Amino acid sequence: MDEVMEKYAHFEAVIKDNNPAADLSRIRAAFDFAKSAHENQKRKDGSPFISHPLAAAEIIAEMGLDEEAIMAALLHDCIEDTGVTYEEISKRFGTSVADIVEGVTKLSRVTYTSKEEEQMENLRKMLLAMAKDIRVIIIKMADRLHNMRTMEYQSAEKQSEKALETMEIYAPLAHRLGMQKIKWELEDLSILYLDPIGYAEIEEGLRRIMSSNETFIDSMQSKISERLKENGIECDVYGRVKHIYSIYRKMYSQNKTLSEVLDLYAFRVIVNDIADCYNVLGYIHEMFHPIPGHFKDYIGTPKPNMYQSLHTTVIGSDGIPFEVQIRTWDMHHTAEYGIAAHWKYKEGISGKFADEAKFAWVRRLLESQQDSDAQDFFQDLKIDMFSDEVFVFTPRGDVINLPAGATPIDFAYTIHSAVGNRMTGAIVNGRIVPYNHELANGDIVEVLTSNSSKGPSRDWLNIVKSPEARNKIRQWFKKEKREENIVHGKLSFETELRRVFLQMSDLTREDIQPRILKKLAFASFDELFAAIGYGGMSAQKAVNRIRDELRAIDKTKKSELMPFEIKPDKKLKPIHGILVEGIDNCLVKFARCCTPVPGDESIGFITRGFGVSVHRKDCKNYQKSLETPEEAGRWVRVAWANSDVDIYSTALYITARERSGIVMDIATILNALKIRMTSFAARDVDGGITTAAIVIEIKTREELNAAIARLATVPGVTDIKRGDG
Ligand code: MN
Repeated sequence: MDEVMEKYAHFEAVIKDNNPAADLSRIRAAFDFAKSAHENQKRKDGSPFISHPLAAAEIIAEMGLDEEAIMAALLHDCIEDTGVTYEEISKRFGTSVADIVEGVTKLSRVTYTSKEEEQMENLRKMLLAMAKDIRVIIIKMADRLHNMRTMEYQSAEKQSEKALETMEIYAPLAHRLGMQKIKWELEDLSILYLDPIGYAEIEEGLRRIMSSNETFIDSMQSKISERLKENGIECDVYGRVKHIYSIYRKMYSQNKTLSEVLDLYAFRVIVNDIADCYNVLGYIHEMFHPIPGHFKDYIGTPKPNMYQSLHTTVIGSDGIPFEVQIRTWDMHHTAEYGIAAHWKYKEGISGKFADEAKFAWVRRLLESQQDSDAQDFFQDLKIDMFSDEVFVFTPRGDVINLPAGATPIDFAYTIHSAVGNRMTGAIVNGRIVPYNHELANGDIVEVLTSNSSKGPSRDWLNIVKSPEARNKIRQWFKKEKREENIVHGKLSFETELRRVFLQMSDLTREDIQPRILKKLAFASFDELFAAIGYGGMSAQKAVNRIRDELRAIDKTKKSELMPFEIKPDKKLKPIHGILVEGIDNCLVKFARCCTPVPGDESIGFITRGFGVSVHRKDCKNYQKSLETPEEAGRWVRVAWANSDVDIYSTALYITARERSGIVMDIATILNALKIRMTSFAARDVDGGITTAAIVIEIKTREELNAAIARLATVPGVTDIKRGDG
């Protein structure tokens, strides 16, 4: 049997130990496939390449992960390093396995160049966000662990590059996922390459200390376990020297020598239940002197990554301090394997986790999985914590963090407003994309700029996803395009005014203008228009405030300052004149914007809480509302009932050349037609033109048409319109 097959036999034994239900024949098939795919490849140390995925898969099996994860670990380098495709793996081993392999491949393609902490945090998040399936990250971790274990044959440059990446990305990820065992090994291997001298110093120092008290660990171990067993506590006791990086960090961060670092030794007592944990603590404190301030109860208050144990540091009779960690078996598995432990030891999850946002997603996952069986548990285990964010690269390799759905414009403005303002296009992963292209995790984004760019377009305000980009675009319009803003702003302001039957001349009257501008906090109307133009204020908001102010003025002066606002006569309740399709007995009212009368082609709008509002089909509000999908569905067909008992209010707008007696003429004609006029308002506008708004009561469209025809014959009248919204 060759060396690889010997290793394979060991690997199988590990699977049987940790996952007796796994289908060994499927795993073997994946191994054979990977082996032949990597056939002619060798590792740096001269061994056949397959020994690497095999070792990674064994790490996965040791953690008790499922069959699919083990198979994916065996296949993890196939797509990247051989001609094998996703489809091939999917066909042979199923989409689940293929998805995991593809996930690992994607992560392998991410490269790291930056060293700032914030960048590192973003990279870690990006990896988690890209992974989608937590098994991808765990396999990537096993892959990295084995590569670090076999780093000695790599070039010095490669060694320190990989070690740094491991220290800054993978060890913190392992920590966050609670995988302490892997974290420690990754840290120790990294520091070995990052600071070989410091590493050797500690190693040498530890050797010295240990040889001077060679029997310490053994004697303490038996002392503790004997005492506990005497008292009927079933337990396992292990002693060890702490891992090198934890000593290294203490020495350097607290500026201590090796001999000043307390608790170089750690003992671990593993018991069956929580009550025993506290019993053991009592015996330990009885046997040795506890050092004040060194007791920590991570059972009562678990660490954010689910870690639970009691920690105490004590001094033995020979004056050597050591730490004791006391935990149950469940806690032990969680401490060693973190998130991965839950494949195997699902029952051991305790509900008491510290309330820390960082790990909230795991808690959520675990909680939501409580009722489903173990199979579903890992099937559904997806990473969803960063679904509202997307992480992309600059061409220099910096990671930029944007809201989900972000576009290259958001990216450009995140880099700098000047980049956004001079943007002329974007390249994502080497291809030119449109401005509204949605960015995906891991994309490399490059912004094309030009000094002769005309600046952002107003459309961009509708495309961007981040508030920062939107603000920066608005700032640009505010500064650069004042004239244009005024024109745009005035246009939308006037449209909004017309909607409520007001016009500019209503606002510019001497007694009103100062009050309105004061209310809006603008120095002039141009300032207001400019603000509306760049989006600093909405036209609707401005007009609403103006109406409020006009009403206030109206009240104090008790005069008709808003002649164009039409109020239907309250005495008339024309509810019966209209039939609403599919609705009986509903509240019906007639829209003020277009005041429909029988005979008008009409349509009803189901308002939120105020019955059906009837509009004319040519009403602008109706037309506009059809463009909003949410509103468009609220329109219902209506029909006029054959009834001439009801009377309807409707508004007419008459334009005429200014002439004395014209008002009298209009009144006379309506009187002759026996049409009651309930409201009349007229005003002179520029160029000798008078406009009048009248509200009349009529029964039918024919009657209205007749009235319009007669009014048109009044000398001087140039136009008669119905209000249409
Ligand atoms: Mn690999």
